[in-house]
Amino acid sequence: MRVGVLGGTFNPPHIGHLVCAQEARATLGLERVLLLPTGVPPHKELAEDPGPAVRRALCERACAGDSALSVCPLELERRGPSYTVDTLRELHAREPEHELTFILGGDMALTFGGWREPGEIVRLARLAVAEREAAREEIARALRDVPGALERTDVFPMPRLEVSSSEVRGRVRAGGPIRHLVPDAVGELIAAAGLYR
Ligand code: ATP
Repeated sequence: MRVGVLGGTFNPPHIGHLVCAQEARATLGLERVLLLPTGVPPHKELAEDPGPAVRRALCERACAGDSALSVCPLELERRGPSYTVDTLRELHAREPEHELTFILGGDMALTFGGWREPGEIVRLARLAVAEREAAREEIARALRDVPGALERTDVFPMPRLEVSSSEVRGRVRAGGPIRHLVPDAVGELIAAAGLYR
């Protein structure tokens, strides 16, 4: 089975994440996509973090109603920084028959060479990069230095959605609307728990 893995902070999940997962699945013929919320991200400071349990609940709400999407809690359950390579190793060990594809936005692909063991990541999984902000040539240039990466990477197009989690949090803080930028069930939990105020 071909399984996609979309890692992120998902603070909160929004339509950009969902469309990214969907387009990767449709374009690359993946059977399902796992949203992989990070525990302690090594690559970025987690702003206004409501905590792993809440981010997991937000992700579960974002996946509800789409049978091709589910949440993988591996990184939330692990202590210390969440390195993608460790997670892929664990996923691979648990279900060696699955062919893994790690999905990432173009902006994240530009930093990929600096991740822990990028060569091992592309050995464990194919890469699927959404053309977001970064163009194909720029993505290729960033991956050129990682042995084996280019041959194992697909760049897929997706409608440009300029939404980000920071944008959503900023709107909540300012009392602005977030409906249609996040799934209703996500918006409801943000409101009910008073997140990001
Ligand atoms: P923040 O605004 O807090 O930095 P973010 O919106 O970029 O967060 P992340 O959870 O860090 O969200 O992103 C997870 C993955 O989803 C990354 O690979 C990122 O590139 C991708 N992604 C996020 N938003 C979009 C979008 N609007 N379109 C395409 N890909 C996206």
